[in-house]
Amino acid sequence: MGERPYFIELEQALAICAKTTVKLSVEEVDLDNSHNRILATDLQSLVNDPAFDNSAMDGFAMRHQDTLNPPTTLQIIGTIQAAGQEDQITIQSGQAVRIMTGAPIPKGADAILQVELTSTEGNTVTLQKEGMKHFIRKKGENLTKGEVSLAAGTFLTPSRVGLCATMGHPTIPVVKQLKVAIISTGDELKQPGEELGYGEIYESNSFGLAGLIKWLGHIPVRIHCVGDSLDALRNTLNEAATNNDIILTSGGVSMGEWDLVRKIMEDEGDIHFWRVKLRPGSPPLFGLWQNTPIFGLPGNPVSSHVVFRMLVAPWIRNITAATGPIESRANATLSSAVKPTKDCLTLRRVSIEMTDNGLLAHQNIHQGSGNLASMALSEGMVILHPGQESAIGDKVEVIFL
Ligand code: AMP
Ligand code: MG
Repeated sequence: MGERPYFIELEQALAICAKTTVKLSVEEVDLDNSHNRILATDLQSLVNDPAFDNSAMDGFAMRHQDTLNPPTTLQIIGTIQAAGQEDQITIQSGQAVRIMTGAPIPKGADAILQVELTSTEGNTVTLQKEGMKHFIRKKGENLTKGEVSLAAGTFLTPSRVGLCATMGHPTIPVVKQLKVAIISTGDELKQPGEELGYGEIYESNSFGLAGLIKWLGHIPVRIHCVGDSLDALRNTLNEAATNNDIILTSGGVSMGEWDLVRKIMEDEGDIHFWRVKLRPGSPPLFGLWQNTPIFGLPGNPVSSHVVFRMLVAPWIRNITAATGPIESRANATLSSAVKPTKDCLTLRRVSIEMTDNGLLAHQNIHQGSGNLASMALSEGMVILHPGQESAIGDKVEVIFL
């Protein structure tokens, strides 16, 4: 192998990853299947929203001019509960119509008073206040027909799926989900439910990584664990490359004799970089296996998660031009000291508490990269630049988990 980037900064690693893309395609899915998907094209509204002037309140519609000196008593000439009934009614001076939220405004009316501020007797209503013009929701005030309200790349959250329906779309063009193979490596790994022998542990990385892939809106394909054998690994990688868009491996990328993912990639794959200045998570490699992008993630459970969040997720969002899910970051004040490392971007798991003085970050859990509880029981991670000493009271950037 020739010279290749080694132990590089995260930004450089991201820049190298960005040169590799995967082929995307578009499919049309119905609304029910559009949740957590990435919109493939700009989406225009097929209608005005609202489509007609309507009432924002349950109450009465009337002419505003009639209500200037409350209390005012008006004659009730009808009820409008839904579309289609307003055509038959025109309000004249001295008249009111009972109206429900969302129902069209009858001709002649230009104000609404909510039912709580009225009393009725027979077919008259007494208004305790002036009618309110702003309780009429105007045609097109939210969206006008033809307006692009969701841009290509938008991640379809629940309210956005609702908005697609509001705009009149029964089906939505979305980016076809990427299939991401997840291969765990290590002779010591057993499936939860199996009996553990001495020296064996339960395989956990593939489950967490599968969740992270789903979080991004794609399809995880968990492949059975591969023992520390080059032949088994080669076969599994070949199969994964044939059937998937991206491969993630976990374990076997460090310096050791048995770190076979690194070894096989060095001998038979195409490595674009190896090792990143990130702690936890310095061992990863990125490259191609038979033209399929492959991330070799570290085996330590915290490290594999951190590398996914900091390296894999930004790349996948980038290649799909997705604007979500939004990676939430905030500033917090430290209520305990956190230690940087000399030359790596360092992430420390912390609890984050909302207080009257803003967010407080507290490191109260053992930070070992094998301690998955430190991640699972924390709300966020403090991001420290190399050498950034941080004491109680300092402001730091946190990324939410
Ligand atoms: P490795 O990078 O293969 O040397 O693994 C580093 C550490 O992570 C070792 O303690 C492994 O037992 C552990 N490990 C590797 N793969 C997994 C996995 N899929 N789930 C949980 N722990 C793992
Ligand atoms: Mg291993």
